[in-house]
Amino acid sequence: MILFEEAYDIVINSAYTLGKEQIDFKNSLNRVLAKDVVSDIEIPPFTKSAMDGYACRRKDIKKELEIIETIRAGKIPKKSISKNQCSKIMTGAMLPQGADCVLMVEHTKETEDNKICYTKSDTNDNIIYKNEDVKSGDIVLKKGTKIKPQHIAMLATVGCIRPFVIRQPKVGIISTGDELVEPNKKPKLSQIRNSNAYQLIAQIQQVGAIPNYFGITKDSKDIIYNTVLKALHSNDVLILTGGVSMGDFDFVLEIMEKANIKILFNKVAVKPGKPTSFGIAKNKTFFGLPGNPVSSFLQFELLVKPFLYKMMGFDYSPFYVKLPMAVEYKRKNAARKSFIPVTFTNEETIMPVEYHGSAHIHSLSYADGIIFIQINKNILKKGEIVNVRRI
Ligand code: AMP
Ligand code: MG
Repeated sequence: MILFEEAYDIVINSAYTLGKEQIDFKNSLNRVLAKDVVSDIEIPPFTKSAMDGYACRRKDIKKELEIIETIRAGKIPKKSISKNQCSKIMTGAMLPQGADCVLMVEHTKETEDNKICYTKSDTNDNIIYKNEDVKSGDIVLKKGTKIKPQHIAMLATVGCIRPFVIRQPKVGIISTGDELVEPNKKPKLSQIRNSNAYQLIAQIQQVGAIPNYFGITKDSKDIIYNTVLKALHSNDVLILTGGVSMGDFDFVLEIMEKANIKILFNKVAVKPGKPTSFGIAKNKTFFGLPGNPVSSFLQFELLVKPFLYKMMGFDYSPFYVKLPMAVEYKRKNAARKSFIPVTFTNEETIMPVEYHGSAHIHSLSYADGIIFIQINKNILKKGEIVNVRRI
């Protein structure tokens, strides 16, 4: 049995970055940029008004101003502004020559036909200057950026319609267990529904990788072996749930070795998730996750997710907040590092959720995060500051 930190290092050091491909920017959400993105234009490309109002000379704002033109967005102004003149201007329209400020329409009054008066004594310039945001040739998005909606806006702005991104890891999923039925079936006595596979599919999608589900396999060496070979053939990563404990029908490790996967660890000093295993072959990686859904969820979150992100070229670090415990938390056995699901309270403290163990998937439905309790530590005191990892 190895420490969680050792297991994490082995997993992360086994990750390699996949190659790059060029894709349509509209489909690039959650993908990771393989190259810097450079702007082909100045942003903004011309000096423009930030307001609907009147473009004029600041030194004339106390005077009555004659309107000489209306400038719409997308049009080039025809006239330049001279003494006691202004042009009506729309937000985003080009600023006319001669003007050095825009008076907000809300602070103006029409006096007589085609004249305005400003009702305040001073104004901001209300101008957005040419290239104040970005110069042509500037890097606007860095290699390694995980693309969010605002990055898609940036790609659109600089015309990068086919960005280079890292290829998505393909992740095969196999559920093992004679007791499992798919969610559309009513389980008979002694059966349970397969929840892990669908949780994993969603977790893999959330990371931005591609899940490929290979169904439920019976606890039979031959069937699992054949499914493993098939899944390894067409995927970069294989996740298998169940069958990794020490029961009479848990022979996944034996099968993986037969499939030429070198097992690097098969037990981690964590709770839940002790029977987590990990192995490698050339350009293939194997995670054996426990069958229990809370264990599977957490070990994916803690080990598989950082691994997949590294394969995708994304430098992931989880988000933690430090908050005090609302109550004392005690455990009898401190031989393993424990992960405890918690919620945020209204008093800015952390409350462990009711949690009956690694099969209690319902507990995670209420959890906002997880906290850790180190080996040899039995108590988290009320008020003790803990690191909360959002889930
Ligand atoms: P195992 O790792 O096969 O010993 O399974 C540990 C526990 O997790 C057993 O109670 C299984 O019934 C349960 N389990 C295994 N696979 C799944 C699954 N895909 N969905 C939900 N529970 C499962
Ligand atoms: Mg099983």
